[in-house]
Amino acid sequence: MNTVIYCTQEKKQEIRDAVLEKLRPDFVQFRNVNDISLEALAGDALLVIEHDLVPDMKGKQKDKLFEKIPVFIYRQGRLFDISKSSELLEERKLLVDSKDWNKAKEINEVICDIDFLLGNTVNNSYPGFFQLESTDFCNSKCIMCEHYYTENKGACILSMEKLDHLRDAIQLSRIINLNGMGEPFISKNIKEQIDVYVGYGNKIVANTNMSYLDDGLIERIGRDFDWLAISVDGATKETYENIRINLSYDKLMENLYKLNEKVPDLFRIISVVIMRQNVCEMPDMVELAHNVGAKQVVFLNLNSSILIGNQDDALANYPKVLEYYSVKALEKGEELGVRVVVSNAPFLNRNITFEEIADELEKMNAIQKWKTSEEEKNMKETAQRVKSYTEEHSLLQDTTVATKVKCSGICDWLLTNCYTDQHGNVSMCCRNSIYRAGTVEKEGEFQEVWNSLLMQKTREIFYSGYLPEACLKCGMIEGGELKYLSVDISPDFYEDGEVKKKQKQIYKELFGGKI
Ligand code: SF4
Repeated sequence: MNTVIYCTQEKKQEIRDAVLEKLRPDFVQFRNVNDISLEALAGDALLVIEHDLVPDMKGKQKDKLFEKIPVFIYRQGRLFDISKSSELLEERKLLVDSKDWNKAKEINEVICDIDFLLGNTVNNSYPGFFQLESTDFCNSKCIMCEHYYTENKGACILSMEKLDHLRDAIQLSRIINLNGMGEPFISKNIKEQIDVYVGYGNKIVANTNMSYLDDGLIERIGRDFDWLAISVDGATKETYENIRINLSYDKLMENLYKLNEKVPDLFRIISVVIMRQNVCEMPDMVELAHNVGAKQVVFLNLNSSILIGNQDDALANYPKVLEYYSVKALEKGEELGVRVVVSNAPFLNRNITFEEIADELEKMNAIQKWKTSEEEKNMKETAQRVKSYTEEHSLLQDTTVATKVKCSGICDWLLTNCYTDQHGNVSMCCRNSIYRAGTVEKEGEFQEVWNSLLMQKTREIFYSGYLPEACLKCGMIEGGELKYLSVDISPDFYEDGEVKKKQKQIYKELFGGKI
């Protein structure tokens, strides 16, 4: 039998030896991804894919390629026959029973490969990246965040009892992200919960406002964290404290320096939401990152909110200003050895001058920077009207439909990643929490919710080659952040779906037609 191998250059010899020994083929051929198709593999071919390259097979599920030919996955000296996944489920169970978490996770990841290759709408694998909200309580009221108007009403923390319900998923994940809507480090359970996650062999990642840091946290950050992203939306005390209401710039700086001193090797990212109020401080924020030992600064464009009414703050209104300061931030990063992430980096005009942005800057600076207390009061009243409406008329969605936008593969959040809030509610992703898969009420129930009708339907749409309506305008698609998915971004991608249009109409009525 002819055996075709798809692998990296480094693994060629190792995989060839394993194939010759275990499968005894007549001959072996290496192919690139474009030469793996039903036509190209016609005859009696058998395919071997290196585990790390499985995501490259996106889009090949459509013609059922992997059901029509024998396929093996190669991982760490073993060849896994994808037609024998039931044996792997049994092996995973035995490994979990014997508490061999690392091996159980490895087998789970191969099961995930098989789910992907076969385009399963019911996943047998558990997610490897588990975003589990520690709390939706926050000690800040940032001017671009819903805490600005919700003021922690109804907020709570993830209880140890709820965590027990999610144990079967936690023991098979690799990375736990502590975030949801709140500040994870202020939860009184956070240290105990980190210890539980780590006890199952997980690494921890988080975004924090770094307003709270004690010795117990420092010890865990140094020992258990893969990376830490710190939200810093101003390089000066005035900007920072006006954006991150209730937080202290001096405390932030004290904690950033303390962290640098105690855990200098931890990969730290400074995360900044860019808006008109702080755009001119972009290069200074790179310098601040350098001073406190962070190796990366990520500038995220503001997603404006109808409820906050901050559409004027978005830099889509001042593209030249954004371009100029993005270039300055990149230059500062190059000078200081800090990696700077800005949108559209390869297409920026590196020669843009200050004169070219003067008009936009003038227009931008003419607008009042911060809301007055009267404006804040109106915002909160409107938000309350919307909240009362949504309490009576749920906006939650339990299905979605296909759009005309073509895609290949599936979003990572339907395959390897999962977002669960502190109540055990599993959503399609953290961006799409109104698309609710269900609630985990007891241990052993996670997979049922993970494979709810919503999740099955959404996976079916992805694997059929079309983007679900719920995923239009997704920033993760635009940013190319998804490993298992590629999308043909056409103008249809930027259209609002029916759910969004309906939501906007409701808001319009609640706002008295003022949006
Ligand atoms: S494509 Fe975007 S919106 Fe859709 S599930 Fe993935 S992350 Fe969420």
